[in-house]
Amino acid sequence: FVHQLADPQVNLDTLLRSPLQPVATMKLALPARLYGSERPNSRGVDLNVAAERLPLVEALKVAPAAPVPDASVAEARAAMEALHAAQPAWNDVPLAERCAVLQRTADAMEAQLPRLVALLAHEGGKTLGDGVAEVREAVDFCRYYAAQAGQRLAPQALPGPTGERNELRLHGRGVFVCISPWNFPLAIFAGQVVAALVTGNTVAAKPAEQTPASARAFVELLHDSGLPRDALRLLAGPGETVGAALVGHPRCAGVCFTGSTAVARLIARTLAAGDGPIVPLIAETGGLNAMIVDSSALPEQVIDAVVTSAFRSAGQRCSALRLLCVHEGIADGLCEMLAGALQELQPGRPADAAQSWAVDVGPVIDAEAHAHLGRHVARLEREARLIGRTPLPEALRDTHIAPAAFELAQVGDLREELFGPILHVVRWSGDVDTLVDRINALGYGLTLGVHTRIDERALRVAERARVGNVYVNRNMIGAVVGVQPFGGEGLSGTGPKAGGPHYLYRFCGEQTLTINT
Ligand code: NAP
Repeated sequence: FVHQLADPQVNLDTLLRSPLQPVATMKLALPARLYGSERPNSRGVDLNVAAERLPLVEALKVAPAAPVPDASVAEARAAMEALHAAQPAWNDVPLAERCAVLQRTADAMEAQLPRLVALLAHEGGKTLGDGVAEVREAVDFCRYYAAQAGQRLAPQALPGPTGERNELRLHGRGVFVCISPWNFPLAIFAGQVVAALVTGNTVAAKPAEQTPASARAFVELLHDSGLPRDALRLLAGPGETVGAALVGHPRCAGVCFTGSTAVARLIARTLAAGDGPIVPLIAETGGLNAMIVDSSALPEQVIDAVVTSAFRSAGQRCSALRLLCVHEGIADGLCEMLAGALQELQPGRPADAAQSWAVDVGPVIDAEAHAHLGRHVARLEREARLIGRTPLPEALRDTHIAPAAFELAQVGDLREELFGPILHVVRWSGDVDTLVDRINALGYGLTLGVHTRIDERALRVAERARVGNVYVNRNMIGAVVGVQPFGGEGLSGTGPKAGGPHYLYRFCGEQTLTINT
């Protein structure tokens, strides 16, 4: 539905006649025109069709990838020197060839979709639907940034009053350090790396400790697609040692970081402490995302959006809903429906071929996350009212957190991002501006949902809210590359928007060339 709205060819009549599509299919069908190619960028996989999901389930039976060795700090430092030496040559590669590498990599990912989805299930605990959507997003990043680079990186003539030839030219800054999280181990890793590469930088890529094999698979596809070996180095290992060594290295010319707000601050301090060049930081960080529901909202639509936003991917998305603000006039009924919906969710092990298709909610990423979330749930059980909870089989207790919703007294009772399937609900009444101000006061600014049938109210909330992405009368996850640029402000990051038209500029140096003709 969202995709169709983005396509001006589709009118309301067509929309009403078209069957609703599952998210996995919807996400795959971006208009080809966004990618500068007549060829549709992707083929939908309808997971409701057995013949379409069979290759995915079969791929799960292949043994998981071999472990990726950690780099040492000395290797990380040596890689920075080698990448620095290689950067001028990579920057000299014609833009069209740099873009072609990205397009070939996208082709290879499409051809290897089942293998990549299986890797995401084994390594990251992703459900099949989430895995397909993630591979598609990685494909979209490659195609979109290739098309954007082609359109935006060419030298721009600036005719004017000086009577000289003036030109603005963009070039790679040097070695970009790209540091990514485990929750989108392919798509975020790929998006950062290809944005930095296509703009002429060489790249030191540091994936999260939990998910290096997904990163390695992408790096191999890039090299197989023609990327010179010395333009990109994969440096797996702990952030505190390997990541810190890369960021603190004097050859580091820029950092693209996606992860927690706390680590973004650490990196910013490291960059500020050096006495070399001033190094730019792109930080895409956490969220404490709210959804505002007023009394005119459609309850069924709200529950559908809440379940998707709060519990899909076991709540391990930066965009996920954490704080549901329901107007007190409809709060009792909505909480009852939410409790019912929670009973229906199906937890399980996505990497197990025998059950993967039926799983709605997979495990949380590791034992540390499990313990952290467990402590938060225990505190909520003491201090808040339980609205509802998904039954969790005994066999999943050590790896999964049961999706649950708890009622809090007020917005300010939640101060930190909880990265799991726990929803906090508050009731509100009175002035919606005051509610938005309270949400703004939390300091994060990533996503916000609004459910209302009053158009002016939706627009008013969007205008007042200090967030990067506002979603009205739908769920609030799964931003689509090219049409829903994604990224926040405040504690949620420095911007710019990944998958948006301004993103590549942040990876570039700019030079004004003036010739007295
Ligand atoms: P994290 O703990 O901040 O880690 C992110 C990356 O930083 C990892 O590769 C980590 O390495 C590395 N790192 C840790 N300490 C470092 C240091 N001192 N110097 C350099 N690098 C260091 O985040 P996470 O737990 O992986 O991911 C979840 C967080 O990411 C959540 O807060 C979520 O909201 C956020 N996120 C934001 C977005 C967005 O677009 N805004 C998207 C996805 C996720 P190791 O893990 O290997 O130690």
